[in-house]
Order: sequence, then C-alpha cells, then structure tokens
Amino acid sequence: KAELQLQYQITKFGQGDRLLVARDITRLMRLEHTRQDFVANASHELRTPLTVIRGYLETFLDQELPKPLQRALGQMQQQAQRMESLVTDLLLLSRLEASHHISDEHPILIHPLIRQIHQDAEALASGRGHRFVLDIDPEYDLLGQRNELQSAFSNLVFNAVRYTPDNGIITLRWWTDALGGHFAVTDNGIGIEPMHIPRLTERFYRIDESRSSASGGTGLGLAIVKHVLVRHDAHLDIHSTRGKGSTFTCHFPPDMVVPVRDAE
Ligand code: ADP
Repeated sequence: KAELQLQYQITKFGQGDRLLVARDITRLMRLEHTRQDFVANASHELRTPLTVIRGYLETFLDQELPKPLQRALGQMQQQAQRMESLVTDLLLLSRLEASHHISDEHPILIHPLIRQIHQDAEALASGRGHRFVLDIDPEYDLLGQRNELQSAFSNLVFNAVRYTPDNGIITLRWWTDALGGHFAVTDNGIGIEPMHIPRLTERFYRIDESRSSASGGTGLGLAIVKHVLVRHDAHLDIHSTRGKGSTFTCHFPPDMVVPVRDAE
C-alpha cells in the first residue's frame, strides 16, 4: 500500500498571516527510489564483465608484444581501471543514498585511520614533492562507521593531492572544541572560484572537465563525502581562494566525539 508523502512550506505574509502549502511528492519520491535502485543494480552488474576484461588485459600485458599493440592494451587497461573506480563509487553512493542514518556506530580510532590515509596519499603523490603536515589531537576519537569515514576523508585528501601542483603542502588536522569534532584538509593548490563552491557536492559536477578527468577522479568524490557526513549528522565546509588553495572541513556534533580512553 503506497503511503502519501507530503512536503510542507510555510510562507509569512501581511500582518502575521501564514500560508501553508502542502505538495504531494509521492510520485517524485517513487521515481527517486527507482533511479537509486537502477543505479545500484547497473553498477553491480557492470562489475563482473569489468573484472573479466581486466583479467585478460593483465594476461596479455605480461607477454612480449609489438610496441603499438602494447600501447593500445595499456590504454585499455587504464580506461578499464577508471571504469572500475566509477562503478565502485556509484555503488557506494547508491548505498549511502538508500538510508539517511548510519545503523551502527563505533569509535573509529581516528589516529590510525588518519595515519593510514596519509600513507595512501604519500603513495598517490609519489615523486611529486608534496609535503604532508599532520596535526592531530590525540585525546579524542570519533564515533561512526569506519569504512564510510575512511572513504570520505580519503576523497578529501586525494583531491588535495590531485589539485595541488608539485611541491605543495597538504595539512590534515583533527581537533575538538565545544562545537564538536573537526577534520580539515588544507592544500596550497589551484583553489576554486566562489561561484562553484555551492555545487561541488553534486554528482559529476566538475569545474574543468578536461583537467579533472585527467586527474583520475570519478566526479563522485565530494558527493560521497556529503552523503557520508549527512549520515553522521555532520556537515562539510569549503573555503577556497583561486590560485592560493582550499580547506575542506568536516564538522561533527559533540555527541559523536569520545575520549580515546573510552574508545579503546
Ligand atoms: P573529481 O573526481 O573530479 O575530483 P570530486 O567530487 O571529488 O570529483 O570533486 C569535484 C570537483 O571539485 C573537482 O573536479 C575539482 O574541480 C574540484 N575540487 C575538489 N577538491 C579540490 C581541491 N582540493 N582543490 C581544487 N579543486 C578541487
């Protein structure tokens, strides 16, 4: 039995009068669910053929082949890898969209998590001369879903690596105060024009299509970050200056922060 879903809007006018508008969004929500199901199923189904294609390409690339053929196969392997990342991100995003709250929360041991992300980022940035600075409050931990937060934080750190020219400085900070816990990634990279900032967390929103897809991202990173944070009652703040750099900060409410003693 379909439930009626209504959206209400109250508008004030005149001398304290109010106008209440109720909009029937049942059909809209049904369509949205169909879209989410479709994306989840399509990405799931695309995984198997992609794994087979990648497997064959790896076997061929291990053999002695004429140069042009080797180059073509190398390109195919790169594109298959890109497609696999896209499918993985699409699947993750559709899972995140399917429910609005995390079902279980545990202390995520934020210090080892940030150290792990730092190591992965060093590998991604290898040979580019970036310097990483870690500034982590060792006394407090964060409650949440480890895998989801790992995806969100990695996306922010990997973006900092991608959108910062060689020899940049990337800072990872975790601190707490009366407002809660905060994880921030700062880079001194290319920065972002103010007009783009409100739309950055939309799926596939990219400022410069050619540069962004060449950077190896899927265009879904910040959409994933946003959904993970919403599910943790947290939010993302973006400050950036074109040509100078950016800071992406995740703000978590106080009840998601616990002393490390309790976390162990
Ligand atoms: P992508 O896979 O393209 O990186 P994201 O959703 O992670 O997708 O980011 C969306 C866009 O935001 C990027 O294409 C890029 O233009 C911009 N962006 C994200 N992080 C940064 C950053 N640290 N510095 C400059 N631009 C950024």
